[in-house]
Amino acid sequence: NLSDKLDKAFHILKGHGKITEVNVAETLKEVRRALLDADVNFKIAKDFTTAVKEKAIGQNVLTTLEPGQLLVKLVKDELTELMGGEATGINLSGNPSVILMSGLQGSGKTTFSGKLANYLKTKKNKKPLLVACDIYRPAAINQLHVVGDQIGVEVYSEPENKNAVQIALNAIQHAKSNGFNVVIVDTAGRLAIDEEMMNEIANVHAAIKPQETLFVVDSMTGQDAVNTAKAFNDRLNFDGVILTKLDGDTRGGAAISIKSVVNKPIKFIGTGEKMEAIDVFYPSRMADRILGMGDVVSLVERAQEQYDEEEARKIQKKIAKNEFGFDDFLAQIQQVKKMGNMKDLVGMIPGAGKALKDVEIEDDAFKHIEAIIYSMTPKERTKPSIIDMKRKTRIAKGSGRKIEEVNQLMKQFDQMSKMMKMMQGSGGKNLMRMMGG
Ligand code: GDP
Ligand code: MG
Repeated sequence: NLSDKLDKAFHILKGHGKITEVNVAETLKEVRRALLDADVNFKIAKDFTTAVKEKAIGQNVLTTLEPGQLLVKLVKDELTELMGGEATGINLSGNPSVILMSGLQGSGKTTFSGKLANYLKTKKNKKPLLVACDIYRPAAINQLHVVGDQIGVEVYSEPENKNAVQIALNAIQHAKSNGFNVVIVDTAGRLAIDEEMMNEIANVHAAIKPQETLFVVDSMTGQDAVNTAKAFNDRLNFDGVILTKLDGDTRGGAAISIKSVVNKPIKFIGTGEKMEAIDVFYPSRMADRILGMGDVVSLVERAQEQYDEEEARKIQKKIAKNEFGFDDFLAQIQQVKKMGNMKDLVGMIPGAGKALKDVEIEDDAFKHIEAIIYSMTPKERTKPSIIDMKRKTRIAKGSGRKIEEVNQLMKQFDQMSKMMKMMQGSGGKNLMRMMGG
């Protein structure tokens, strides 16, 4: 599935200190494949990965964590943006506010009409009226009445009337005289786009001038959904999209394609047959769903929060002046520790949970290093070059560690200082990795 694919994609990045053009390209190829699998249109998937690639190349690794995580965040942010960024509400400014449903037969219009009425009644304190304008099948009118009874919302219908425009206008009149402040008009759909149906809904649309025209689409229809959306939008210039049947394991890639092609916000999603199965559409949550990697993003955010820019600049200066000492080293360790428990952090990396199941991760991986540094005098910490054999022996005794460990730390520190001087640009950011973490 998509999640496995992305696991694999991000695995490619493991062990790379910097996101380079090559490993970004490899990873994004996988991301693109994953998007295509989730029914995202080919051109959109391609443009998307190109955009992410441009952002990723040359960007310094922001945290001490795997650069792959940064790419995850770039992908997620871009995906969220692509689906509209923020959640968009519906316009309820009319009196009454008229909402027109459009979409193919079976897309979920009647069900969603009921869900929306129930939502507005219970969550927004509105008094909605449902209107049955699917005049071709008696069963359709019945279906809406059943829904209305279920949620305690009145349904307006004229079973003998064969003029959808007239029924809609009469219903609005009825709403005005009876204190309804929202009118939800359910319409007829066909199995495929046809002129007759389009003309009818266009006529209803022109006559009632709704505040909101919503296009309802079954998220499982994949690529076809895009063409349908385009056809409806060309005729109705609708205000928003409703994605239904997002329960089960539909990835919802259609959401991305539709948004990109018609450039209208997705406003609600349907997640089941029950009247309560309605949710406001949040682009970032949908991005999580499509990427299937919820935790990773919070991990990256946590790391970025803890990473102190100011501190980094100070350290960079010190390196430049050859003044980087064990105190700074200690501060870096504290920084890393602030990010949280090592086991938790590792557990949040996709795939790592499995791979590291049998590996013992020390909760306090830095305990010994800290003990050794604490046993140094302030002078030794700021000027490590004065630490001779005699001092080493004293430090080892004081910290309760072996002299070999002190030697090893000194050696690591020495290598690290040299390396940091060499890679000035990225400063002390990569400390943890260099420590062989
Ligand atoms: P309409 O022809 O556009 O009015 O579509 P309906 O509202 O009659 O829905 C068609 C079928 O899809 C019905 O069996 C509904 O119960 C079902 N349905 C609608 N929305 C959802 C949803 O969000 N999830 C699931 N699982 N089924 C849904
Ligand atoms: Mg219907």
